Amino acid sequence: VFASVVQAPEDPILGVTVAYNKDQSPVKLNLGVGAYRTEEGKPLVLNVVRKAEQMLVNDHSRVKEYLPITGLADFNKLSAKLIFGANSPAIQENRVTTVQCLSGTGSLRVGAEFLARHYHEKTIYIPQPTWGNHPKVFTLAGLSVKTYRYYNPSTRGLDFSGLLEDLGNAPSGAIVLLHACAHNPTGVDPTSDQWEQIRQLMRSKELLPFFDSAYQGFASGNLDADAESIRMFVADGGECLAAQSYAKNMGLYGERVGAFSIVCKTADVATRVESQLKLVIRPMYSNPPIHGASIVATILKDGDMYTEWSVELKAMADRIISMRQQLYDALCARGTPGDWSHIIKQIGMFTFTGLNTSQVAFMTKEYHIYMTSDGRISMAGLSSRTVPHLADAIHAAVTS
Ligand code: PMP
Repeated sequence: VFASVVQAPEDPILGVTVAYNKDQSPVKLNLGVGAYRTEEGKPLVLNVVRKAEQMLVNDHSRVKEYLPITGLADFNKLSAKLIFGANSPAIQENRVTTVQCLSGTGSLRVGAEFLARHYHEKTIYIPQPTWGNHPKVFTLAGLSVKTYRYYNPSTRGLDFSGLLEDLGNAPSGAIVLLHACAHNPTGVDPTSDQWEQIRQLMRSKELLPFFDSAYQGFASGNLDADAESIRMFVADGGECLAAQSYAKNMGLYGERVGAFSIVCKTADVATRVESQLKLVIRPMYSNPPIHGASIVATILKDGDMYTEWSVELKAMADRIISMRQQLYDALCARGTPGDWSHIIKQIGMFTFTGLNTSQVAFMTKEYHIYMTSDGRISMAGLSSRTVPHLADAIHAAVTS
């Protein structure tokens, strides 16, 4: 009965790893997937995560019962504090509802499903470009997806006037997806002043902000600084949605641990909203997994472990910043034509190199370097050892 099912294409991002795994070359390099690697090219489990897991294993009072539909209560409270700030009035006034979800993707999807059912405006504006999964998540939830200008290829920076113009022309009430920090794939973030202008415009037009926070702490190495954009929107007392992921900042990729929050205007609304979030979640996966959320809660509630985490997180962020500098220096040393300063200006895990599809194909064929076809490279997958190989490949790609 399934004989007519056609072969689906690989996911454009995860498919890069599939192609990489098939390559037999000893110099092959995977810069496609946004997962952190050490200098030695190995995945990293944070020490503080190992410690938390050990504590969980040793605590024999722990059982494997189902969590509530909304997840681990401690985890939800601590996640809200992490993103909105320990002294957030919205939290103190019980105006925030937070539910544990399946990492960032699951949080976005639960948020999208909720909006499709309970929000009057079904159009969501996403930046152009954005993470490839965004349009699919929102479309499949029943929202209508439109884009706003974000990136200017000629400056390799923010198209701020285009952004303001497009959001200014959006219908009142439309949802706007914003990357809280470390925009994926461009690595280009608005400045604080620009965020403030975006906030004013969005509030004056009653556009609903939906933040995707997949890299808190990864952009600057500072957890509070990386949540500044969201906190500006919460501080004005208006509504705001946020999807949080612990994949990158705690290295918990495969544990699938994240949170979705809605900041409401009153505690009463927040309670009703939460009751409806439960109705969204229950038929999708009933309730979320316990292990990853327990690790996060263990770390966030203990002052020393929190500090240890911040230090390890900063070390990851710093290594990425150092990779940017090393790649930039290597291209300058080779006299590679063009201005490569965007490599050190862009923020977070990715550099949007500006290399085109055929240059990317050339680098994969001749140098066994894998990346998404839009020229995005993961700086987290680079090391001092592999920078010269990448610089050689870029040099050859732009001069051949
Ligand atoms: N949003 C953005 C912008 C991302 O880059 C990612 C991961 N690449 C996610 C959400 C979701 O990640 P996860 O589901 O693994 O937490």
